[in-house]
Amino acid sequence: MLFEHARACGASAREGHEVLEVAQHAPRVTRLQVRTDEGRSYRIEARYVIDASGRDALLAAKKKLRRKNPEHQSAAIFGHFRGAEARPGADAGNISIYSFEHGWIWMIPLPAGVMSVGAVCRPDYLKQRKGRTLEFLLATLRRNAALWRRLERAELIGNEVRVTGNYSYDSTRMGGPGWVLVGDAFAFLDPVFSSGVYLAMSGAEHAAQLVDAALREPATEVALLRQLEKRQRAAMARFSFFIYRFNGPILRQMFRNPSNRWQLEQAVISMLAGDLFDTPQVLRRLQLFRLVYSILALRHWRRWRAEHRYRLAQARSQFTGGDTPLDKV
Ligand SMILES: Cc1cc2nc3c(=O)[nH]c(=O)nc-3n(C[C@H](O)[C@H](O)[C@H](O)COP(=O)(O)OP(=O)(O)OC[C@H]3O[C@@H](n4cnc5c(N)ncnc54)[C@H](O)[C@@H]3O)c2cc1C
Repeated sequence: MLFEHARACGASAREGHEVLEVAQHAPRVTRLQVRTDEGRSYRIEARYVIDASGRDALLAAKKKLRRKNPEHQSAAIFGHFRGAEARPGADAGNISIYSFEHGWIWMIPLPAGVMSVGAVCRPDYLKQRKGRTLEFLLATLRRNAALWRRLERAELIGNEVRVTGNYSYDSTRMGGPGWVLVGDAFAFLDPVFSSGVYLAMSGAEHAAQLVDAALREPATEVALLRQLEKRQRAAMARFSFFIYRFNGPILRQMFRNPSNRWQLEQAVISMLAGDLFDTPQVLRRLQLFRLVYSILALRHWRRWRAEHRYRLAQARSQFTGGDTPLDKV
């Protein structure tokens, strides 16, 4: 939809064209080598490059900016099913999230009766898999009885199960003269709370304004890049507090016994809905939420410490599942 909209607004939007090479010759002169699906090659000269290449992270890989998140690591195993039971009534289109002892499981309704179902787990759980990947996925899904009731009569489409690992990363820089990274090309945290698409769109919106300003007034570029990176990293830090601890005992306890005292529940919902950049009341309440978390962590410090150590050990884990059909891993 965004692509079509960009085209309707006058952008030259090309599908099936892959950028193979990017060479910057001067701050406002970058040459891109492109190949089409039909095998035709051509070059583009750009004054500014916005890299939105997602997890391929074209520029970050080329410039060696990408780094693994030292604090968090998880992996996902997932597939598309037909015939899964939707939630009743007006909730039919809603995403469901279920937890199990090694992580959490999503059910995302897609058009035409398809349901994306996947488990996000700590790498050591996925490393235990033996035998066929499909069986491992199904055994994982059976671990939550409520979820399995909605899925037991469904059928996996195309017998294709995918695994993706090592997906929490960022880049040491977000941009430089003549280039900027947006979305997953800059950083990715974790699929929980669906922050990826929102952070990508919000970052892209601000990057577009930055490029416009930098092309008009090149002297402002460095300061604007710094501001954009600071803003994006601050938002990621707000999300990551929750993401890192989502499977931990303290946050689970808080989420399972929600209380709106001091409007903390509202603040968390606002944050999850994307209000995590500029609203002072929300940011103050999120600070307060962290204080309450710290007090509970102190009260249950043994459980907190065990989980903290386990999480950091998992982040150091060498699991690599990189977007490969799992049967081939
Ligand atoms: C398992 C999993 C589950 C997720 N679930 C959710 C969720 O429920 N909700 C949510 O908000 N986010 C979710 N995310 C994250 C979300 O998918 C991403 O954060 C989001 O798609 C990032 O958008 P993007 O535009 O940066 O990259 P992408 O959506 O990956 O788009 C990048 C585009 O660039 C193209 N491209 C790449 N290289 C080149 C090249 N060299 N030349 C030309 N084109 C190129 C690709 O073909 C692609 O079309 C999930 C991620 C994972 C791994």
